[in-house]
Amino acid sequence: MLDSITQPHIGPDRVSLADAARLSGALMKPGDSAHLDAGAAPTLGDLAECLFFSPGDGRIWLNDQRMLLLHSASFGSLRRELIECVGAEPARRLLTRAGYASGARDAALVRQRWPAADGASLLAAGTRLHALEGVVKVEPLHFAFDAATGRYDGEFLWHHSSEADEHIAAYGVGNEPACWMELGYAMGYVTGLTGTLVIFREVECRAMGSAVCRVVGRNAQRWDDVAHDLRYLDAPATAVGAAPHPEAKGWQVRRPAERSESAADDGLVGLAAAFVAARDAMARVAPTDTTVLLTGESGVGKELFAATLHRRSRRASAPFVAVNCAALPDTLVEAELFGVERGAFTGATQTRAGRFERAAGGTLFLDEIGSLPYAAQGKLLRVLQEREVERVGGTRTFRVDVRVIAATNVELREQVKRGRFREDLFYRLNVFPIVIPPLRERRDDIALLIERFSLQFCREHGRITPGLTPRARRTLLNYAFPGNIRELRNMVERGVIAVNDGEPIDLAHLFRHEPLPAAELYSLDHGMLRAEQTDDSQAAATANLPTLDSIDAAEAQLLVDALTRAGGNVSAAARLVGLTRAQFAYRIAKRGGRS
Ligand SMILES: [Zn+2]
Repeated sequence: MLDSITQPHIGPDRVSLADAARLSGALMKPGDSAHLDAGAAPTLGDLAECLFFSPGDGRIWLNDQRMLLLHSASFGSLRRELIECVGAEPARRLLTRAGYASGARDAALVRQRWPAADGASLLAAGTRLHALEGVVKVEPLHFAFDAATGRYDGEFLWHHSSEADEHIAAYGVGNEPACWMELGYAMGYVTGLTGTLVIFREVECRAMGSAVCRVVGRNAQRWDDVAHDLRYLDAPATAVGAAPHPEAKGWQVRRPAERSESAADDGLVGLAAAFVAARDAMARVAPTDTTVLLTGESGVGKELFAATLHRRSRRASAPFVAVNCAALPDTLVEAELFGVERGAFTGATQTRAGRFERAAGGTLFLDEIGSLPYAAQGKLLRVLQEREVERVGGTRTFRVDVRVIAATNVELREQVKRGRFREDLFYRLNVFPIVIPPLRERRDDIALLIERFSLQFCREHGRITPGLTPRARRTLLNYAFPGNIRELRNMVERGVIAVNDGEPIDLAHLFRHEPLPAAELYSLDHGMLRAEQTDDSQAAATANLPTLDSIDAAEAQLLVDALTRAGGNVSAAARLVGLTRAQFAYRIAKRGGRS
């Protein structure tokens, strides 16, 4: 009765389709190159229509993204100079990351522009865009994405790769593949589209003497030795502020064992521009003795930044002492920081060194500096100015050689205006400010971080899991993360511990003792595609969250809505919510049996 014979026309621009996709939280529909409809949108023609030149004002557009028309030979010389300045390995990382960013942007573009397109067409659009942008002609051998399991497989031939051309022009034919930026693009595009980290490897390359390049892609967790591939998505330590690598001259690939102090080893993983800028600023200021002020929400990793900064400084062999100013009672804060002489106050039964003295020669990290009582602020200022401390109740002063890194999750300038924070201390601390972005402003990094944390915790806890279920991954990719990286890290650890060996981590494992996030929080429109709505989603995150029951109810409503919109046609309704007809019918039947 539900399945009528009529097949209503499903137009690509109907708002209801986007709504349905949003309601279901569908990240992407399944797609298989075997069923690719060459005429389905977006075709190469549709994509070419997004490209337009605006020479009058010096702009080229791809939909709403500004593009550059760069001479391939200029790219080649930039690439060569990069290799010669920083070494082949760091240059490869930089180019892979740049390519990844382009791919992720193009994936966002096609999803925004063609929300109703089928999976195969969306995946094919990446190959067409890569060609349209003049980078490489892509011939898909096969590709398939299974939305139910999150499994992706793909194999492609790359004809006349521009990067291979430039590499051969500079270095001739060698024995390593060279299409680094293009490989980055493929990873960024497919990861951006499917929401699961997909790693591509170049198994044949023209730069190795093959006639064409051949690349193979599959989910990160399904490759052996994926750490090798993941490091190309990390920022090279030598690229920022540090001296050029000694092997910088000429073309040579560094062995993995020779790598040291990379961003990944520090735990500072990410590719988002704001995050990379913060990490680069940290690397730049580390070798100096400058006072640093870290600003960012709770859970963004301020202490990790501070500890890394210390480790990369000249003080690395001296102590790193961390103090959370908010955790100390007002009456004890001065004794803690500056030390106390015996008998200074009731309870001070013995002389004790303060944190400044204990950090001698090293770094003192003052977290939540905004919580420091006003009187203690004055004393801290004097210590910073005179480089001397006087213990509470003491009469002598000690010289201290300590570098201070302060951190705050409140806007200190506001506190100054309100008279809660000393202006002179603010300027003393604010010599080199670094702003660390919240996780919701670096969504492209979530897939990468999930992979990192699950590898780490599986190793730590001796667990085996194939990873997250697609709906768990979808939820995390679109969740607002009010607790930032710390929250994501805790969730993944909780999931790894809660799941049975060999089984995938699902929502219930991640949100074990907490209410599940509201459906709006993990919908496409609110999270992935509209960065400007992050404030709203944060507000929503702290509002009352519904429980599993209401998620269940939302699904029921979604199925009913889809059926109504499709005029009772099950196949059409299934398409509306990104399910197969069989999946949709099964869900309806299951509900029918229950109510
Ligand atoms: Zn190649």
